[in-house]
Amino acid sequence: MKLDGRRESNNVEDRRGMSTGVKAGIGGGIGAILVMAVMTLMSGGNLGDVVGNIVQQQLQAQVQEQPTGKTEFTEEEQELADFSKRILAGTEDVWTDQFQQHGLKYEYPTLVLFTGAVQTACGNGSAAMGPFYCSGDQKLYLDLSFFTSMRRQLGIQAKGDLDFAYAYVIAHEVGHHIEYMRGILQKCHQKMAGMSQANANKLSVKLELLADYYAGCWAHYDNQKYQSLTDGDIEEAIDCAEKIGDNYLQEKARGYAQPETFTHGTSEQRMFWFKKGLQTGDWDTTTFAEGDLD
Ligand SMILES: [Zn+2]
Repeated sequence: MKLDGRRESNNVEDRRGMSTGVKAGIGGGIGAILVMAVMTLMSGGNLGDVVGNIVQQQLQAQVQEQPTGKTEFTEEEQELADFSKRILAGTEDVWTDQFQQHGLKYEYPTLVLFTGAVQTACGNGSAAMGPFYCSGDQKLYLDLSFFTSMRRQLGIQAKGDLDFAYAYVIAHEVGHHIEYMRGILQKCHQKMAGMSQANANKLSVKLELLADYYAGCWAHYDNQKYQSLTDGDIEEAIDCAEKIGDNYLQEKARGYAQPETFTHGTSEQRMFWFKKGLQTGDWDTTTFAEGDLD
C-alpha cells in the first residue's frame, strides 16, 4: 500500500501502557472469568469479533485497568500503530463521503490499542479474541501483536509486507461499525439472542461476510481517492481472506470442518464478498434483509 503523506486519525485511544487487572477481593476473579465467558458465548463460542452491549455492569466493575509504566515501544510496534491510525483515517474519509452522498452523517468509531486484556462496554476483552468491535461503545479493539501472530499462524506467503492484509482486518472491524450505523447489527444481535446456536451461527456468518464486503467497498474508494493500492496488494488480502475462512481454520486445527459451527463463513465466501466489494464499491445496494449474502 502507498500511504505517503496520509493523515493519521485522532480517534484513537492508546491504552497499550495499561494492564487490565482484577480488583483484590473475593469473587473478583470469578467475575472476570464470567465476563469472558459471557463475551465468548455471545460471539458464538469461537473467536468472534463483534459483540453487543449485554454484559452486566456489576461484573464489569470488578475489572480495572492500571498503568504498567510501559510507555516505550519498539520501532515495529510504533510503525504498526501509525499504520493503523492511517488506515482508520482512510476509512473515516471514505465512509464520511459515502454517507454524505446518501444524506447521512457518518459517526467515527474509536480505535483502542491495547496489550493483552482490555475493558470494554461489552465486557472484558482479550488479545486471544483477535481484533473485535463492541457496539456498546462503538469502539474497535486491537492488540497490535495480532498482526505478528497473523503472519506466523496463517503462514501467509506474501512477497510484500502484508500491509493491505492488515488494512483489511481494520476495515473489516470498521465494517461492523457500518452495520451498527445502519441498524443491522442491533437487529441481528436481538434475533440471535432468541435463536438456536446453529441458527445464530448462520446469522453471524452473514454479519461477518457483510463486514468483509464493506471492507472491500472501503478499499475500492480508498484506492479511487488516494491510489493507495500497489501491485500484489489485492492478492495479498484475498489470500488473507482465504486463510481466515472457518473451513480453512478448522481443517488446519483438527483435520475436518463442521459447517454448522461456522461463524465467519468459508474461505470461498469471504474471498467472494471482499472481492465483490472491492470491484463494485456498491455498499448501499446490497440489502442485507433480502438475503443477498446467502
Ligand atoms: Zn467480524
